[in-house]
Amino acid sequence: MKTVDTDLKEVKLYIDGKYMASSSNSVFNVKNPASQQDIAHIHEAAYEDVDQACRAARRAFEEGPWRTMSVAERCDKIRRMAEIILERKDELARLEATDVGKPYPVALEAEIPRAANNLKFFADFVEKQGGEVYPMEENYLNYTRYEPVGVASIITPWNLPFMLTTWKLGPCLASGNTAVIKPPEITPLTVSLLGEIAKEAGIPDGVVNIIHGFGPDSAGEYMTTHPEVDLISFTGETATGKAIMKNGADSLKKVSFELGGKAANIIFEDANLDKAIPESIRAAFLNSGQVCLAGSRILVQRSILEDFLDRFKKAASELNVGDPQDPNTNMGPLVSEEHYRKVTGYLDIAEEEKATLIYGGKRPILDEKIKDGYYLEPTIYLTEDTSSRISHEEIFGPFVTIIPFDTEEDALEIANSTDYGLNGVIWTENLERAHRVSHHVRAGTIWVNCWFVRDLRAPFGGFKKSGVGREGGKHSLEFFTEPKNICIAL
Ligand code: NAD
Repeated sequence: MKTVDTDLKEVKLYIDGKYMASSSNSVFNVKNPASQQDIAHIHEAAYEDVDQACRAARRAFEEGPWRTMSVAERCDKIRRMAEIILERKDELARLEATDVGKPYPVALEAEIPRAANNLKFFADFVEKQGGEVYPMEENYLNYTRYEPVGVASIITPWNLPFMLTTWKLGPCLASGNTAVIKPPEITPLTVSLLGEIAKEAGIPDGVVNIIHGFGPDSAGEYMTTHPEVDLISFTGETATGKAIMKNGADSLKKVSFELGGKAANIIFEDANLDKAIPESIRAAFLNSGQVCLAGSRILVQRSILEDFLDRFKKAASELNVGDPQDPNTNMGPLVSEEHYRKVTGYLDIAEEEKATLIYGGKRPILDEKIKDGYYLEPTIYLTEDTSSRISHEEIFGPFVTIIPFDTEEDALEIANSTDYGLNGVIWTENLERAHRVSHHVRAGTIWVNCWFVRDLRAPFGGFKKSGVGREGGKHSLEFFTEPKNICIAL
């Protein structure tokens, strides 16, 4: 247990409308991954704090006024949260860049606006929802109400913490539920501000609670076993999803899981490489490859392999790896020392598996200011071994595996050979093939001739071990509501 270091930013728990210290006085530090400097100390929630947060959320749910206020009033407050996020966009983007190590312009132009839009989208979406009506001749009338479920635990990973939290919080709140949020322990800074943002927007006390801590035997486990919690919305690793499912089973909590991925990015010989190469670079190295939807396996038809490798390698070499706060930086560091060790461990695995290093594989040469950061060059391996670990396991770093294929059937077999099924990417100018291959890749999202294009109404989630359930539009609402049928004799 550490004690409070007064030189650092202090991040407290947000429970029942108030920021408060951990009841155990336990704190942990978070680092700037670019410099390895400690930037904040975080109050770690003890069981008593999690209990207090869950009970506050239950009271706010049962006693109101959140659940019973008009949908219009509730959604206005959520839209106000979105506006405040945009008003504080610059501050939030700086903080996200410092905490996660992602380039500041990416946080400013993409993630923080998307976080605001997540809230606004669901507020607007819920207001427009109708219900079902089933008249039974002249005798009875059935109609359906969609009521909130209760208290939701929201648990998110470190790679896109603010964006992913609002993606869950939007439909949770708009449907009338209350929430206990646990941000990732490695990158909790932006999410911790949601308490004051909710307060300023007029969200009643107890509706949004934020606790900090770790997974097993800590806040994560406490909030997924707590009797006052009705549903768990989780994004993170597949292994963590399994643990949460077991922990929530005794009290039959509803779960929605968005888990890991190892997407196949399939480049057919008729692909437009002028488009496919820059997008495949983005798919491989955005956020230092720490994206669940990353195109981390590139399947290239053999007839264009040489051309593709030359151009892909050149494009990777042109990425600026550097300080996340520098507007010219395209790629920052990995998020933590532990994660850096995991990702760089795959360099040894690739060598053991006799894959061919095409580019990268080293620490880049860095400015003095960031020389201690957990950096890895954009790294490209080529392998024919479709059963290798680098072709199957989620590495979650700037590490891409290129696998040649001969026929469409081969491509499909390789694409479907992992336990994951979050997404797939297809590059072809042949419309029939685009549809055919899209239908046969077993994944929840397929992008054809594009990547990471999101319509918030569309279902989002994974096949196989990449998830349980779907988020997005009405799919999020299905999770966060209980449909109730009312049958009236006429
Ligand atoms: P993680 O599973 O280690 O941690 C995620 C969160 O779960 C953290 O807040 C952590 O504290 C908490 N946690 C850990 N153990 C827990 C337990 N036993 N009970 C309750 N909570 C627990 O994941 P990570 O390393 O933070 O994130 C990377 C993973 O997230 C990758 O696998 C990536 O693919 C996945 N991810 C998926 C999506 C998606 O939409 N499918 C999006 C982003 C990231």
